[in-house]
This record gives sequence, C-alpha cells and structure tokens, in this order.
Amino acid sequence: MKKNKSSVLFGAIASAAMSLGIASAQADEVEIKTQKLTDNIYVLFGRGGNIAAHVGQQGTYIIDDQFAKLAPQIKAKLKELNPDAAEFVINTHYHGDHTGGNEVFAQAGAHVIAHHNVHKRLQAEHGEDSDFLPRLSFSKDMTLHFNGEHARLQHFAHAHTDGDSVVFFDNANVVHMGDIYFNFGSLPFVDVDGGGSVDGVLAAVQTVIDAIGDDTQVIPGHGPMSNKAGLQSYHALISKAKAIMLEAIEEHKTLEAVVAADPLAQLNLEYMGWLPKERVTTLFYRSLTGEIN
Ligand SMILES: [Zn+2]
Repeated sequence: MKKNKSSVLFGAIASAAMSLGIASAQADEVEIKTQKLTDNIYVLFGRGGNIAAHVGQQGTYIIDDQFAKLAPQIKAKLKELNPDAAEFVINTHYHGDHTGGNEVFAQAGAHVIAHHNVHKRLQAEHGEDSDFLPRLSFSKDMTLHFNGEHARLQHFAHAHTDGDSVVFFDNANVVHMGDIYFNFGSLPFVDVDGGGSVDGVLAAVQTVIDAIGDDTQVIPGHGPMSNKAGLQSYHALISKAKAIMLEAIEEHKTLEAVVAADPLAQLNLEYMGWLPKERVTTLFYRSLTGEIN
C-alpha cells in the first residue's frame, strides 16, 4: 500500500471530484489496471470505485462500473479477460463513481442488480425509465449462480449509505466490500445524507471479519487489495475515532464547538482533499448524535 499511496490518494480525490461534477478530467488520462485474484476473479483499478470482474465459462459479470466516460476502456479490459459482454452488473451502492457506467452496460445487454434503496435513489436521480436503474433489486440478500460460483450479495443497513451490499464469493474466498471499506489507512466517508452511519459501518465490518478467513482476499471500495487483518485495523481505527468523538461531544456539546476542539487531530491521520478532517468530524458528529438534518 505504501508505495502507491500518493497515486491511490490522487485517484480517490479525482474520483470524488468527478462524482461531484467538480472536475472533468479526460477519460483517456485514466489507466485501468488489472489485478488477478483467482482464475475467475480480477480487480480493475481506474478512477472511481474498484471493479471486480468474474469471468468464466458462462460469461462475465462485474461489481460496480465507475464512470460512463470510462466504460469503453473498462469494456476493452474486460474483453481481454473474456470475449463475452458483461451479462450482469452488481452495484454495491448508489454513488456515481460506482454506478456511472450502468447505462452504457445496460444498453449493451447487461442486467443491473442492487439493493432496493439503490434503485430508489437512482430512480430519484435519473427518472423511472433510465437505464441507470437496476432491473433487479432485493431487500436482504440475493445469490447469483454463475460461472460455477454462488456470489452472495448481502445488504448492510445504514453503513456507508442505506443501500450497501457486500459480495461474498465463497468458492473463490474473495469478498468485495464496496465503500463500507475505504482502504487508505484513514477514516471512511460516512454518507449520513445517503442513509449511512458510523455504527452501521462498524457493524458491517465486524460481521464481515467474523465471516471470513485469514486468507480471504478483501476488495475495498477504494484503495489497494486487503485482507482480514486490514479490516481489523480499520475497525479498530473507526472504533477509536468514535470513542474520541463521543468524549468530545460529551464535553463540547455543539457541532461548532466539537469541530473547533478538533478531537480527531490526536489520531494523526492523513485526509483526502474532498474529505478533510472537518468534514469527517462533522459526519461522525451528525451520525453519533442522531442530528442527521
Ligand atoms: Zn461511495
């Protein structure tokens, strides 16, 4: 992780900026890198959420699809792995850096799958008839039986958002966390306005830790590949930040006073440009006090 830290951070900053429509970097500046995890599973790192590709005898499906602009490059990379077009696209949540390619892939014949709340949020954003919307949505869990794997999609309520799914490839011993896991050695983006919560992230991460083995390959929503030990450190860091924040809330009461006291400074963490410490402090405060609005 260390040697790639600056480029990884840059990618995350750029992806977040793009998802907010702040920057309009040219798609051809982005290099899509592929990492092979097993004979059937690859990770594609580009700009935006990490994509998992499952390829096999029956065809191809992917988890998340970054941005529309990158879809041609992503398709070209997938073609190198398997000649068939993607048959399914699973969205781990609704954010634009994970669902931006939905329309392009759907119009090429893929069926998009996600939790009900992803459908609800994308419907509000794009309208009822849009090809950005999942065609199949689910409540608690769903299993995709394809390529000799039984990919289990499990919903975790109020974690990074209100529509998060973690995808377990049990046969392959791989799990895709979506943005419940930001693997930058820092604190996550808890999208309180999108139904996320600090406690939901902690609960989801703990559930996955309990469900996987030491040798399970863990794909984070952003950042390099990880494992159970990485998830445990991440959980410990968020727990520590939560405790520090609860103490500060007890002492300083108001959001303004807590932000001014800068309680997270003692953790000495690095923050991304689009997610500065003040914003993390504010989101943790809102989540932990229930002051969502
Ligand atoms: Zn996200």
